[in-house]
Amino acid sequence: MDIVKKHEPITSEQIADKLNLTRSALRPDLAVLTMIGILEARPRVGYFFTGKVPKNLISERISDIKVDKIKSVPSVIKEETSVYDAIVTLFLTDVGTLFITGKEGNLAGLVSRKDLLKTAIGNADIHKMPVGIVMTRMPNIITVTPEESAYDAARKIVDHQVDALPVVKVIVEDNHEKHKIVGKVTKTTITKLFVELGKT
Ligand code: ADP
Repeated sequence: MDIVKKHEPITSEQIADKLNLTRSALRPDLAVLTMIGILEARPRVGYFFTGKVPKNLISERISDIKVDKIKSVPSVIKEETSVYDAIVTLFLTDVGTLFITGKEGNLAGLVSRKDLLKTAIGNADIHKMPVGIVMTRMPNIITVTPEESAYDAARKIVDHQVDALPVVKVIVEDNHEKHKIVGKVTKTTITKLFVELGKT
């Protein structure tokens, strides 16, 4: 990389000469550096340094990956569901956040595990109390769309200090925005992506 940076454009023969190597010994290294985008090879001219260090390449990749590709199946309940049943759903579906729909089936709000815990340790009759009373509701929900990037989603999770984001398709009806739930992105989703990208 240093040789190319200093002497670009430079041919593989010239690089090999400087390193006291044969061209064929150098070929695999040049192939890798070209494939991952650090060097650019122009036919009959030679190699150029692209200025892209590995750090930039990682950010480029997570910005290229769309939420649509990484989203998972959300756990969704209705506003009228009791807090008790919401807690049961939380356990049965093994999630930390439940998304809540209103009458038309669109996103109305969500509850986190601590929202439910807080209600359960209070004096409320959780068998009778609808989850709609304790949920965080629209328009205060931080959402993400399928077209946004994995980086955008991770950024929102960090900036707003939440565990999960509903993935929504926004539909405008009668001058009103409605949010159809099509998935979720959680801290687990981002951790899985991190592991996937880190695989050697
Ligand atoms: P927990 O409450 O279990 O620590 P979170 O950190 O995700 O889980 O939630 C913290 C608070 O933020 C809760 O009151 C929850 O209702 C709310 N919340 C969670 N996710 C979102 C979101 N995507 N948009 C807006 N508020 C959220």
